[in-house]
Amino acid sequence: MSEIINGKEVAKALRDSLAAEVVELGAKYGRTPNLVVILVGEDPGSVSYVTGKAKAATEVGIRNKTLRYPETITEEELLAIIAELNGDEDIDGILVQLPLPKHIDEQKVIDAIAVEKDVDAFHPSNVANLWLKKPCTQPCTPKGIIKLLKETGMEIEGKEAVVVGRSNIVGLPVAKLLLDNNATVTIAHSRTHNLGEVTRRADILVVAIGRERLVTADMIKPGAVVIDVGVNRDSRTGKLCGDVDFEPSKEVAGYITPVPGGVGPMTIACLMENTVESFKRKVTK
Ligand code: NDP
Repeated sequence: MSEIINGKEVAKALRDSLAAEVVELGAKYGRTPNLVVILVGEDPGSVSYVTGKAKAATEVGIRNKTLRYPETITEEELLAIIAELNGDEDIDGILVQLPLPKHIDEQKVIDAIAVEKDVDAFHPSNVANLWLKKPCTQPCTPKGIIKLLKETGMEIEGKEAVVVGRSNIVGLPVAKLLLDNNATVTIAHSRTHNLGEVTRRADILVVAIGRERLVTADMIKPGAVVIDVGVNRDSRTGKLCGDVDFEPSKEVAGYITPVPGGVGPMTIACLMENTVESFKRKVTK
């Protein structure tokens, strides 16, 4: 029987400490961090993510606004808006909610955000600096996952870590951060033969696939720490669920994150942290 890692609680503690810091920063520098979120279209998932980010920012004391544009906005128009925000001295963080409509080149948009305001850390300079071990903004979900692992009190160093998934947003940067914490890291993906054989070696198992119940209890090493990044709609209940078959898996794992209430809240809390860090870099420059 495992301990459930309460991402909601850990995220709340991080937001509370950021809120206290923002008050101090405001008193010291005469202004508080400022985040702009851009939402294109009305995809319900994106609307809900953006609403969560705005709510967290307000709670932390970060000034924020969400700029909403119709699906029909052109790439050129969006790039012009970003250029203007880049030049606005009062803005510390810019985030474009992904995915964007097909007629807009997502990479072009990510590249256009000023690297010092790239609080999502998707800009190629941030990505490169992460891999080069240079100072950089860390991507929110991977950063949140490392914080959750540390919250269990476990030593990451020397552990066998398996990351399932190799996307630029989650799988690859999580693997890199685990490596930087001196874990021995294996990255598995859709072409991995016998996934269970690989995952059963893991002391730390991070699953970022996007398929419900792809990881079953028999694929987990007894006592392992299991971090479930996936966000899916359960085809049986219609509720949100992760990639790990939670109920049976929690009987095997040492620690496990639930979905919802695990990695998700940490991603948002780390976005707030990145915005505060971006502000601090600017005012102390
Ligand atoms: P992607 O679709 O970009 O990547 C999925 C990865 O899973 C790919 O590397 C793919 O392998 C791998 N994969 C697919 N099928 C299998 C399989 N049968 N066996 C092993 N590996 C497989 O997704 P993301 O990384 O962007 O997101 C993953 C999940 O995490 C999604 O559910 C997403 O919603 C969620 N997410 C949650 C966040 C949070 O804050 N909680 C934040 C970001 C994402 P291959 O490379 O070979 O195709």
